[in-house]
Amino acid sequence: MLFIKKIEDLKAVLTTKRGVGKTVGLVPTMGALHQGHLSLMERSSQENDCTVVSIFVNPIQFNNSQDLDNYPSNMVADVKMLEAAKVDIVFAPARQEVYPKSPLTRMTFSPLDSILEGAFRDNHFSGVGVVVSKLFNIVGPNKAYFGQKDLQQYLIIKQLVTDLNFPIELVCAPIVRDDNGLALSSRNQRLSDKGIKQATVLSRILKMAEQKAKEGVPLTQIKKDAAELCTDNNVQLEYIEFIDTGEFCLLKEYKGYHNLAICIAGYVEDIRLIDNILIQE
Ligand code: AMP
Repeated sequence: MLFIKKIEDLKAVLTTKRGVGKTVGLVPTMGALHQGHLSLMERSSQENDCTVVSIFVNPIQFNNSQDLDNYPSNMVADVKMLEAAKVDIVFAPARQEVYPKSPLTRMTFSPLDSILEGAFRDNHFSGVGVVVSKLFNIVGPNKAYFGQKDLQQYLIIKQLVTDLNFPIELVCAPIVRDDNGLALSSRNQRLSDKGIKQATVLSRILKMAEQKAKEGVPLTQIKKDAAELCTDNNVQLEYIEFIDTGEFCLLKEYKGYHNLAICIAGYVEDIRLIDNILIQE
């Protein structure tokens, strides 16, 4: 496994690989790796000759400096995991390498970025759009792998790829969960054992919401029940929304299961967690 920190070094290695016809898969991450990240790497390794995993905590997608400072990082453990996963290249640039100067480019994805995460995290998707575009240009992958865990992010990147003609195939991989249904997240590392237990209510709420929606319970009632369950479990609910994943808009009324997802965000022990579920028809 190659561990590369400089953009020019990475480009040189990948130019050689492409020159002999090798295909390249990219898995962008912010490190503090877990099985969810590994599932993306495994998929990439199956589908490409060479898998590049980037580890970069992107400062411009954080709207809260404390959240950035507290973001978990463990490069030693990450490298061990990547070696075991037989990843070909780790790209772990310093902040200065990616942003020698503060970028002036801003991206908007209106109306996709005005709801859910976008409504609560100012400029988040602008920062995501800029860093993902940079990675696409630096790596030039054939395929890039993202998780359904960040559903809105995936849909926005899909739009970015279409709008800017990036010649890249996107793959959206399912959410990996622990035995109690909690969606794996780097942020879970900061939860106490009690917090981990409390956080499992998020996925239970999503299942409950799916069930009740199918039974015809009004969405307003489902949201009220969800808020109560959060309060009972010391979870501070930020939102629970039903969305049409085709139009990517919020639903006020339930119109059948086609393209329906339920998205939730909340704080457990002051740590912000998100989850979602795609409703099966
Ligand atoms: P992050 O390091 O949190 O930015 O995540 C890097 C990639 O891994 C993103 O595309 C995420 O959607 C994906 N990811 C994060 N958690 C999971 C999970 N539990 N299951 C599958 N993919 C995930």
